[in-house]
Amino acid sequence: MEGSRNLSAPGALQTVVEREADLLAPYAMHSADSAGRKHAEREHAYRGPFQRDRDRIVHSAAFRRLSGKMQVFTGEMGDYHRTRMTHTHEVTSIARTLGRALRLNEDLIEALALLHDIGHPPFGHAGEEALHQRLAHEGGFNHNSHALVIVEQLEHRYADFPGLNLTLEVLEGQTARCSQPHDAPPLLEVQVVDAADSIAYDAHDTDDALKLGILTVEEIVELPLLRRIVQRTADRHPRLKGAMLRKALVHELIDLQVNDVLEQSAARLSDAAPGSPDAARRARIEIGPSASLANEKRELEQFLFERVYRHPKLLRIRHEARNQLLALFDCFVGNPRTLPGKAQRRIETVGLYRAVGEYLAGMTDRFCRQQYARHIGISRGYSDDDQEG
Ligand code: MG
Repeated sequence: MEGSRNLSAPGALQTVVEREADLLAPYAMHSADSAGRKHAEREHAYRGPFQRDRDRIVHSAAFRRLSGKMQVFTGEMGDYHRTRMTHTHEVTSIARTLGRALRLNEDLIEALALLHDIGHPPFGHAGEEALHQRLAHEGGFNHNSHALVIVEQLEHRYADFPGLNLTLEVLEGQTARCSQPHDAPPLLEVQVVDAADSIAYDAHDTDDALKLGILTVEEIVELPLLRRIVQRTADRHPRLKGAMLRKALVHELIDLQVNDVLEQSAARLSDAAPGSPDAARRARIEIGPSASLANEKRELEQFLFERVYRHPKLLRIRHEARNQLLALFDCFVGNPRTLPGKAQRRIETVGLYRAVGEYLAGMTDRFCRQQYARHIGISRGYSDDDQEG
């Protein structure tokens, strides 16, 4: 630490260590305490390790492809709703709000949030189900663990090492998403991203479903959480209707959840007063909503599951997507020479089935459809009746 430097002098450059010492709470993960990277690298003059991780993720091909991957609704249903990319940015934004107020490490939070959905195959959970089914005999497929394969093995952007060589904290944070429950809760920064993910999808799936006319405001007020939100909105804007009402509801839905998580988490932190990230883990501090909000969120998620995710239009799209991926999988396994060179070389390392699964997982929705049309065509594909959606 260089505490004696005069950082108020014009042009004085502040190091990441100095900045974090000023701003972060003792229970935050400080860059100076990072366990480093698998392949040792020189420190950067003014970018901290988690900041570099964030930049590496943003510059990866897998990250860019998130813009072509569906969240819940596909491109044929319009262009208002979230994609995997805009979902990721909403999660990042909410996570930074939570992290900043709790004085946690925002760079680490941002890296984790931008990374969290990078392993999603095309067509969301329908795509994941198809890959899981075909890889069942060798451990299945999970988008959370696939994100680790991407950043450790599949991305090639540096001459000195394979993958992105992210810090062990970011890798551990993503690993924590792959298995539940944990011996000790993960770093607070990791938990913040989980909480933000849940806040984001509860709010934006409600918004998208209202906008698409799958739900109406009259229907969602059946739920106590949404009734509360509608009441709060009406108190401030009694005459709001239509699109402006929908937008106000979404603001409130995010704001209410963020406030609740902050109040709960701040109270837990103030009671236990952990002096380090390890102490926060030992004290099993959890970042998350109050018990009553957690209940209301479960009700909302159940409602969205029944009324939105199982909507006939979405079931049809999922059906079709799943069948296309299954057919493409079988086609590439039967003719490995039709795979691009990089995927063919991958067979030597992970075997044919996994290499095909990884290749398919990397596709955007559009590219997957193109490949289906090219290799299989409409007439030779599996019919919708072959698989249950
Ligand atoms: Mg997510």
